[in-house]
Parts: sequence; structure tokens; C-alpha cells
Amino acid sequence: MRTIQKIDEMHAQIRMWRSSGKQIAFIPTMGNLHEGHLSLIKQAHQRADHVVVSIFVNPTQFGKDEDFDSYPRTLHTDSNKLFETGVDLLFTPKTSDLYPHGTKASTRIEVPGYSDILCGAHRPNHFIGVTTIVTKLFNIVQPDVALFGEKDYQQLLIICRAVEDLCMPITILGVPTIREHDGLAMSSRNSYLSANERQNASTLYKTLKQISKEIVTGKRNYTALEQNALSILKEANFTPDYVSIRRADNLALAQPEDSNLIVLAAARLGRTRLIDNIRVTPPTI
Ligand code: AMP
Repeated sequence: MRTIQKIDEMHAQIRMWRSSGKQIAFIPTMGNLHEGHLSLIKQAHQRADHVVVSIFVNPTQFGKDEDFDSYPRTLHTDSNKLFETGVDLLFTPKTSDLYPHGTKASTRIEVPGYSDILCGAHRPNHFIGVTTIVTKLFNIVQPDVALFGEKDYQQLLIICRAVEDLCMPITILGVPTIREHDGLAMSSRNSYLSANERQNASTLYKTLKQISKEIVTGKRNYTALEQNALSILKEANFTPDYVSIRRADNLALAQPEDSNLIVLAAARLGRTRLIDNIRVTPPTI
């Protein structure tokens, strides 16, 4: 596995692969890799000749009171894991190369409508940071296919829209969420949880499962289901940002006649912000 830090070295490597007609799959990450990331890599191997992973803790997607400084940085272990999974190229760019004019003055990419709802309403500018960095990385790696986790479902839809709007010749693939044994979605941020919080953390998934069961049995008062879930989470010591039942294709508020739904939630447990979602198909009316 080659590790490259410099953008011009990336361009040279990518040019070489492209000139010999090789397909490139790309997975952008912030590192501290777990089974969720590794599942994206497995899928990537099935889709392309070469797999590129980037590790970059992107400052522009963190709010000023968020965990940018404390975000777990474990490059050495990550690099070993990537080597073991047969990744061809690890890209570890420097902030000053990706933001040559600083993080405040650089060009930004925004997907209006999608970026300011749900997580975007609670983390202003977060998705602008995400779309901007992913666009930069796409321009450097020029992948044929890029893989994203459904755990970050809003992010996945936003990237799909940006790729479509900006006419990028890239196929975006969503990969199902990998979970711990008790259902908690794997996340680099789970390491912030205390032992007690960790025991309690799967309540988020269980609450989403409960809502989805009720929808499947025909309940259609979505606001009441959301309110009930918020109460359950509060009782379990979570501070929820939202629980919301939406259309899975565009994140519009779910209507009783909609057939392809997703229940999304974000909630804090202590200092850890957890997100999760679950797809659900209500019975036809
Ligand atoms: P991150 O390093 O958190 O930016 O995540 C990098 C990629 O891995 C994103 O596309 C995430 O959606 C994806 N990912 C993170 N956690 C999981 C998980 N538990 N299951 C599947 N994909 C995940």
C-alpha cells in the first residue's frame, strides 16, 4: 500500500492508473477506522481495480464548540488496517494543501434545502464543510465510484445531489450501517462514551426499531410517534436533537401516503453526539 500526502503525487498516480484503463474506487474517511469503514472497503474492492482511502479530519465540518481537537487520530493503526484489507493507496493530505487560502476564505459547496435540515439545523455549516471537502477530494482522486455509509444518511443524499448538480462523472454507492452486537451503530465517536453510557447507547437504535415496528403495523400519526420516541430518549438520559420520520428519497416530511420512509435521529449522551437511522416501508393503504 502506498501512502501519499501531496496532491501533485496523487495526480501523477491517478493519471497512471487512468491511462491504463483502471477503475478507481474511493472512500473518504476521518480515520479511527472500524468495521463500518472496512465494510465500505470490502464493497469497493468488488467495484474497481484500485481502492483509494483518504484520512483527513476536516476542520470545516466541525462547529467551533465541537470535537475537532479531541477527534481520535490513530493514523498508525489505521494504516495497518488498510494495508491488511488490500487498499492500494492511502491519501493523508495536509490542511494547508487542501485549503491553500485558509479554511474561512476558500470556495464552498452548498446543497440548498438539504444542508440546513435535521443535522444541518443543529450543526450550522457542517454539511457545507462536508460537501466542500468531498468535492476537493473527488477532484484529486477522480474516482469512478465513491462509497459512503448509510449511517450518515443525510450526508449520503447530499453528496448524491452535489455530484448530480455539478455533473461529476462519479457513481455514489450507499453501504448499509454496521452495528455492534446490541445494535449501536459503529462510529469513531463511540470511544467518547463512558462504560455506563455505552451500556445505554443502544437505546437510540432500539427506539428507532420500535418506531419502525409501529409504522409497519399501520400507525400513521407520525408526529405522535416522533414525540413518543423523544420522551423515551429523554427518560434514558439522552438529550435528543431530533427524531424525524421522512421520505427516504428526498428527506421531505413523511405523509401518510408515502411508501419509502426513513426514521432518523440524533441525540447526545453525555458529551457524545450519536446519530442513527432505519429504513421502513409502511403497509399500503
Ligand atoms: P467518517 O470517518 O466518520 O467520516 O466515516 C467515513 C465513511 O464511513 C462515511 O461514509 C460513513 O458514513 C461511513 N461509516 C461510518 N460509520 C459507519 C458504520 N457504522 N457503518 C457503515 N458505514 C459507516
